[in-house]
Amino acid sequence: MSAPKVPRETPFLRREVAPCDWEGVPARPYKAAGEADFRDVTRRVLFDAPWGLLCQVRCFTIGAGGYTTLERHRHVHAVIVLEGRGRVLVGREIFDVAPRDLVAIPPDTWHQLRAAPDAPLSFLCIVDAERDRPVLPTPEELAGLRQDPVVRAFLDGE
Ligand code: MN
Repeated sequence: MSAPKVPRETPFLRREVAPCDWEGVPARPYKAAGEADFRDVTRRVLFDAPWGLLCQVRCFTIGAGGYTTLERHRHVHAVIVLEGRGRVLVGREIFDVAPRDLVAIPPDTWHQLRAAPDAPLSFLCIVDAERDRPVLPTPEELAGLRQDPVVRAFLDGE
């Protein structure tokens, strides 16, 4: 008699074959084009809530000069930088980040990640599998954020 077959959707090992590229994990678009303002971001889902652990582990890669959406939402992010350099806006604070840094993004807090102009930025982002949709700033909220000259320079990629 052969051993019972255990159905398994999630491999026990995801092997990294190149920096921030894992076997069997396709690079997907970050978001639907036109849905929001972002530039040169790809998304890889490494871990998708198997076996009752209700979190996802995604890897995002932002090309040099690229950025994620400026957004907020109820759910939290734990962001761990893997490669490259960049900056992160959390609320009205801006941080330079490098590999192995961890950024905690609290609920209902504006955030955006930007790769350096001359280097990409790759990071893991851990989130609840069930989560609310991101909210984009209204023109009034954006104007409010841009009143801070440091935040404005960040948002303009300066
Ligand atoms: Mn977010």
